[in-house]
Amino acid sequence: KIKAMVVRGSGKTEVADPQGFGTLVKRQLDAIMSSPNAKALSQHGSAHLTQMVMGMGDMPVRNWSGEIWQEGADALSGPAIVEKILVKRTGCYACPIRCKGIVHVDEGSIQVAEGPGPEYETLGSLGTLLYHGNLAGVAKANELCNRLGLDTISTGSTIAWAIEAFQSGVLGLSETDGINLDWGSTPAILQTIETIGLRRGSLGELLCAGSGRAAQQLGHGSEAYAMQVKGLDLPMHSPRVFHGLGLAYAVLPNGASHTLGGFTTRGSEDSVEHWVEATLVSMRCAVVNSSAIFCNYTMGRPVLQNLAEILASATGESFTDQKLQAFADRVYLLRYVFNLRAGLRPTANVLPTRVVDQMQERDPRWAADWPRVIPAFYKALGFDPQGYPTETTLRAAGLEDVIATVRQVR
Ligand code: SF4
Repeated sequence: KIKAMVVRGSGKTEVADPQGFGTLVKRQLDAIMSSPNAKALSQHGSAHLTQMVMGMGDMPVRNWSGEIWQEGADALSGPAIVEKILVKRTGCYACPIRCKGIVHVDEGSIQVAEGPGPEYETLGSLGTLLYHGNLAGVAKANELCNRLGLDTISTGSTIAWAIEAFQSGVLGLSETDGINLDWGSTPAILQTIETIGLRRGSLGELLCAGSGRAAQQLGHGSEAYAMQVKGLDLPMHSPRVFHGLGLAYAVLPNGASHTLGGFTTRGSEDSVEHWVEATLVSMRCAVVNSSAIFCNYTMGRPVLQNLAEILASATGESFTDQKLQAFADRVYLLRYVFNLRAGLRPTANVLPTRVVDQMQERDPRWAADWPRVIPAFYKALGFDPQGYPTETTLRAAGLEDVIATVRQVR
């Protein structure tokens, strides 16, 4: 029944080459502190993105209806947070950026105790995605999720599914236990979060496993409102702006994640193969980045060579960008085969229909090429055309142990 363990160490962390490591840390620090992104993060946290990415069409509105809602983004922006609810900034150990915001709300019926404020993803998932521009309400929803141990992206996306199902008449008041699920209703959003966290009543039972499961259970066309891949709800960035995310959301073993690469755009002259290669490079960097526990913000756009140098000076072992690339591919393969063993087949590597339909309307070139992208990805990683890693690929990655698993499920 253990849910978490906290360990506090008292020893000192040694590095293999203190002088070389110190030089690289300084180089990294200089790069971090001279980047405009770091300055924006220090001032407004990840919320500095809100207004800009809404203008680009990146931030989803009303369950990915395709609208741009600048007024909502303004209400939930970094400057609005600083002006209305921010108490102070804080950050992770020794980080010079300190992007975290501590907030407090005292607004009549909405009281938020001093604590961590909403990040960009939460401003999207519990804000614009729900057509909810009430900053105090989003801060309260964020606090509730934190206290109930709920991920804000999945919670917001599941509520967006429920609101759309309710508005279209597929879900009735008897299934929502009397909650009027209207877009932008702070009381309905807060009540639903509690209902999910406590698995209370028929609504809590329906929503507690996320939008994908809820849609499967309810049916009646509500599957179209579930914006998820492999059960993980889409984060707050759109494949229509970052083309690499379309591919990454579809093929990542853990589903639609924004922390494992894909923030790449396809140039007007770029081929499908280039689209795939650029996405793969960013996915590999992201795997190494998170395995080495680097913050995504402080690494900016890491290159494997940079990561290899830091790791080599810290550990005394030899790292090259080729070695890290092979490591990243091995991690991907292992996760992929884990999914195969758990019953997920390559047919699960798909984007929600709503995303593909919108791309068809707005970007005919994307839509025309999309059917070739996943096959090109399989080819680049050494999979067969059906989406299974070949035995040669698994052997080359040193994963002989899992060959039998792939044989069994093919
Ligand atoms: S390490 Fe990253 S998440 Fe932590 S305070 Fe610094 S920038 Fe923010």
